[in-house]
Amino acid sequence: MVTYVGRFHPPGRAILYHCKGTILHHHKGRVISDYWHSAKIMAGILARRVLTGPHSVQVSIVDACNYRCVMCWEHSSEIEGRGADDLARDYHATKKNKATVMDYGVYESFVRSLRKTGTRDISFAGIGEPLLHKRIVDAVVLAKALDMQVWITTNGSLLTPDLMKELTRAGLDDINISLNAGAAGEYGLVHANQDNSRFNQIMENLVWLREYKRRQAVGFPRVTLSHVISNLNSHRAVEMMECAVRIGAIAVSYRPVDTCAQTSRFSLGTEERETLSRTLPAAAGLGNKNGISSNVDTFFQLLALRDAGNIPSPCFAGWLYPFVLANGDVTYCCISREVLGNLAERSFESIWFDPRRRELDKTAIRIHKTQKPVSKSRCRGCELTLSNQRIYNRLWPLWGRAGGTARPASNYQG
Ligand code: SF4
Repeated sequence: MVTYVGRFHPPGRAILYHCKGTILHHHKGRVISDYWHSAKIMAGILARRVLTGPHSVQVSIVDACNYRCVMCWEHSSEIEGRGADDLARDYHATKKNKATVMDYGVYESFVRSLRKTGTRDISFAGIGEPLLHKRIVDAVVLAKALDMQVWITTNGSLLTPDLMKELTRAGLDDINISLNAGAAGEYGLVHANQDNSRFNQIMENLVWLREYKRRQAVGFPRVTLSHVISNLNSHRAVEMMECAVRIGAIAVSYRPVDTCAQTSRFSLGTEERETLSRTLPAAAGLGNKNGISSNVDTFFQLLALRDAGNIPSPCFAGWLYPFVLANGDVTYCCISREVLGNLAERSFESIWFDPRRRELDKTAIRIHKTQKPVSKSRCRGCELTLSNQRIYNRLWPLWGRAGGTARPASNYQG
């Protein structure tokens, strides 16, 4: 199961990070075009209208998973009696089409339509394992042919040298490995249907990728290691960074576990938090020495946010980050179950620019005042809150003039 459906970089910095990335890796026309797209998104937020395509889209090209990670909200081994595909189908409870693998024709029309909206950023991530899709390489080739930045988030178990070669040739930009372990010892505890030996296999394949890229003299795909930190692996923060050094990763993402009733026994207690307050900065220091970025600050900010339990900021997801399920449902954000439309029935453009969506956007930009979540969305403790806060803080001088009334809340500090 892919446990992290977001990007490594805190979404609040997404636009800035994105622009920085394009400056480094793409030609001038692309940089200007991406700045223009970001500026239009911001203008749309201020005008309360959707003027252009989203910043990026996550596509759950496969909703089923070959893993049963204990902390997963969709496929956890702890959710008794429920198989992965059953849970994925629950996601589509209101739709006739309960497919858990996206039809390639639907994908093809979707990505072309998405590109027409101005969006250049697509991420294969979501509630399942994207490498289970038989045409994942074709999907990357098509998105690259449309001049898009392409990410894959994967548990890494299917990432063989042959597939890594194909993805490299396809032009994949980034690969985010949900590793959730710093050593083989706890790998099987976190990933309930896997042997500890799987950890070593994934690490060996990632070392192979590092060497392959060196031999080919290419910098892509860049690798990020992602870890959901629970009480099963919280003692391994430094080893997690050592793994990143070993495989030549560019970044490590640490995220506190977000539990439900069935998985609350994996929550971080006082002892684990104390350990992390020492080891995460040490891990970040090791990363700095090796040119590997990490997100220690946002880890503690997110913990504090969840402890506080309120919604401190408007939500801008309606302008930035829609989510697409394998059956073609487009949802408001990666957490929301609010379906905006289905790609088998309508183009992405018509769904995205549909004025009926404005009611949701109106609710979203007031959630810090009403404390009422967006329909069918779990807004309290949502990771995008940190991103929303940063955008809100930056927009505040203009936001006030454009009709916003509440002062931005100060950022949470760990
Ligand atoms: S705050 Fe709510 S609507 Fe916004 S991204 Fe989070 S879950 Fe979705």
